Amino acid sequence: MARLPARGLLVLLTLLPACSVPAQQPVAPKPAPTAPDPVVASAKGAVPPAPPPGRPAPSRPALTILWPTTRLRNIEYVSLRDVAKNFDLKLVWSKADIAMTLSDARGGRFIFEGNQKDFYFDNLRVFLGVPAIFHKDSLWVSQLDVIKIIAPLFRPADHLAFLPAAAPRLIVLDPGHGGIDPGTQNLRVGVNEKTFTLDVALRLRKILELGGWRVLLIRDKDLELSKDKKTDLLMRNEFANRNKADLFLSIHFNAAPEAISGVETYSLAPQFMHSAGDDQGDDMTKVAFPGNKLDYANLLFGGQLHRAMITGLKAPDRGYKHARQAVLRLLDCPGALVECAYLSNDAEARRVATPEYRQQLAEALATGVQNYAAVLAALQPAPAAPAAK
Ligand SMILES: [Zn+2]
Repeated sequence: MARLPARGLLVLLTLLPACSVPAQQPVAPKPAPTAPDPVVASAKGAVPPAPPPGRPAPSRPALTILWPTTRLRNIEYVSLRDVAKNFDLKLVWSKADIAMTLSDARGGRFIFEGNQKDFYFDNLRVFLGVPAIFHKDSLWVSQLDVIKIIAPLFRPADHLAFLPAAAPRLIVLDPGHGGIDPGTQNLRVGVNEKTFTLDVALRLRKILELGGWRVLLIRDKDLELSKDKKTDLLMRNEFANRNKADLFLSIHFNAAPEAISGVETYSLAPQFMHSAGDDQGDDMTKVAFPGNKLDYANLLFGGQLHRAMITGLKAPDRGYKHARQAVLRLLDCPGALVECAYLSNDAEARRVATPEYRQQLAEALATGVQNYAAVLAALQPAPAAPAAK
């Protein structure tokens, strides 16, 4: 697992991929949250508030697990022993005093390592808001990570009341950058990001339309939405909201100073959760954005996308992460941002430059979208049987 040293926000901003559009100030002032987070509130014993606007009243009660917590380093933590007990999983130290594995009859489901922000869930690399820590005879994870990442990944059905009730039909694809903004570039290989994001989006549109989806593209040509980057990103949110999208997928390619390669997927960081790579929390950490009303759907979508890409591409797993990308913050529908490959890595850039690999990318993304819809459908309660006459 990757060790993530403490970093300041300034360092974070310089290290974040040139192409992703993470930690800018909000493009418009956001109202304070009108209601407490449903599951956090219920975990504290408060009455769960109404579901997000536009959603029917839940047909089942909100999750009311009262996770036992201990305050450590000024954060509420939950012991993995209590997580295992609640999930009915067996917990062992798989590496003495280093890593713990939670398993069931299928084998190892979760692997956590002390002082690390990443863990593995069914072999998928996922990042926590804060690292797992050692305490007494166990590893401990933050209550927020349990409520917002670990529990909904393992038991999405418990969060059904906060997932969209209707099957998704309309997806908005956002080919990142365009026009005056080339995104990341590799001049050695002679490629840029805006060309590939559009090409993959066009391929993905074809596949999804064949599968019965309605697909709208933010752009189908090489153009920017605005000369001003903040306005450009705001307009991408607005396009999805205006068209009443059921899903939003922003397609990007990555860059890093090191010779790394592989796939990253991002969901909007829940309120109070630190963005990936930010150990301190920034000015936006406490803000509840409109997109945060859909934290559980965002997690389901992002997790399915990341799994489909890692499985379909056999690419290195750079992790499923949470951050506050401007292009996800104002969405009224579930959304995710994928960093399909590192153009800064010459070998990977050359691979992306082949139409065959871009088709593979589009197919992997389509699988992720379709799997999200399939899981959502499978979670819906079966229709009631007609009454006997
Ligand atoms: Zn980008």
